[in-house]
Amino acid sequence: MTVFDFDLLVIGGGSGGVRAARMAAQRGAKVALIEAQAMGGTCVNVGCIPKKLYSYAAHFAESFEASHGFGWVGPAPVLDWSALKANRAREITRLNGIYLQLLKGAGVQVIEGWATLADAHTVAVGPQRLTAKNILIATGGKSSVPEIAGHEHVITSNEIFDIDPFPKRLLVVGGGYIACEFASIFKGLGASVTQLYRGAQVLRGFDDEVRHFIAAEMRKAGVDLRLNADVVSIVKTAGGLLVTLQDGSTVEADAVLYATGRVPLVQGLGLEALGIAQKPDGAIVVNESYQTSVPHIYAVGDVTARVQLTPVALGEAMVVVDHLLGAAAGKAPRSMSYDFIPTAVFTHPNIGTVGFTEVEARERFGAVRVFKSEFKALMHTLSGSSERTFMKLLVDEASDRVVGLHMVGAEAGEIVQGFAVAMKAGATKAVFDSTIGIHPTAAEEFVTMREPVKA
Ligand code: FAD
Ligand code: NDP
Repeated sequence: MTVFDFDLLVIGGGSGGVRAARMAAQRGAKVALIEAQAMGGTCVNVGCIPKKLYSYAAHFAESFEASHGFGWVGPAPVLDWSALKANRAREITRLNGIYLQLLKGAGVQVIEGWATLADAHTVAVGPQRLTAKNILIATGGKSSVPEIAGHEHVITSNEIFDIDPFPKRLLVVGGGYIACEFASIFKGLGASVTQLYRGAQVLRGFDDEVRHFIAAEMRKAGVDLRLNADVVSIVKTAGGLLVTLQDGSTVEADAVLYATGRVPLVQGLGLEALGIAQKPDGAIVVNESYQTSVPHIYAVGDVTARVQLTPVALGEAMVVVDHLLGAAAGKAPRSMSYDFIPTAVFTHPNIGTVGFTEVEARERFGAVRVFKSEFKALMHTLSGSSERTFMKLLVDEASDRVVGLHMVGAEAGEIVQGFAVAMKAGATKAVFDSTIGIHPTAAEEFVTMREPVKA
């Protein structure tokens, strides 16, 4: 019988890799994890966590403004960008250490460096050769920037966190999660923000009314959002960057952030030599147990380019651990369902959503009842802000099940998480109606919408 160095070798110390390595080691497997950069991957270092910290920072601007309506007097404080960056960096370094300790505490051997698959059971890290019975590829993704003239002048979400000096004029290209979030955040932090999206409305894939509503709210907040707009060229000038658009108009900016999607990070892994099947964009093809076309080599997370969210990578990692080691005592083996995955976009205001969009719900269920509410949140009766909140429920007529729940408003991410549990459990509109609200909150509106707007 072949003796391997490890039961499981994990390539990539991001959301999926760390979870799989730690859980497998805790269940008695001999595990090593190879990470080339900072521990924790995209989410911890240049994604969810620093982004949310900056979003909190940006929210203070509107809070200072709003405070006057509540009797607070005096000028608003000014942002010390260097202090924010330093505080964020300190917190991320702390998290890097925690991730490392969690791995080591679980008995995972952590190896620094870039990994390459040398053969079906061997991974090379520099001169080192490590063998394993099973291998998990969790190498994540990287920003994709189109090759427009002058693309060397642009930055991606990786660089924006430490940009220096603070960009007084920021041009954001893209209409997805990252573009919308960073447009909101930098507007809040005090930049003058222009956002260009090539299509008719931002956030393709979200409910159409949510898309229109957030676009209007972002414009109200001061983001110069231009639709059906794209960049032709970017040149460096004495005053910054001169960006020429398809319609011949120009925009001057101090920085141009491209947020035009992320692609799987597979370069240099050696997938081709092993015949590991990939999609045209490089994404690794996996089955429902996350096995690649080489069955003892698994892949999870952004490198499979399914749903690029941290909790999804975590969920997938747990399925792999159960598949390799059996279910935890007293539990059924985990599986992953891609239905009713809740998600939030941390725009200002937030978007929170779970389930189907109206178009999808009509396609899937036929007759759908739609409930909607739009209102000024109680806070803004005194704040002076014109921000409004939008909520929408979609109900399958035949079963009465709530199949879509969408919100644009303060803390939508926090609010929608709880409703996602109810919807996974199959909650009907009758259950929503019989639920007592919490007053006075915005969330109570989800259990008090009585009349459908259209059948
Ligand atoms: P990653 O976390 O990307 O980890 C992959 C790791 O593998 C990296 O550390 C990399 O260095 C390492 N690696 C790659 N190749 C090799 C190799 N050959 N050898 C050794 N190591 C290697 N998701 C949310 O759910 N909520 C959010 O709010 C959110 N915000 C985001 C904001 C931004 C700006 C970005 C970019 C992403 C955000 N995401 C968010 C998405 C989330 O970060 C990813 O879905 C998640 O990190 C994917 O985890 P992963 O394990 O697949 O890959
Ligand atoms: P998205 O896929 O969300 O959006 C990419 C955007 O760029 C789309 O608007 C797309 O337009 C546009 N685009 C693509 N190619 C071009 C091009 N060549 N020229 C101009 N525009 C282009 O990707 P992001 O980079 O924003 O984020 C990557 C992923 O990371 C997200 O999908 C999400 O899964 C995850 N993420 C999650 C967050 C969260 O949970 N809050 C926050 C940030 C990221 P079109 O729609 O027309 O294709």
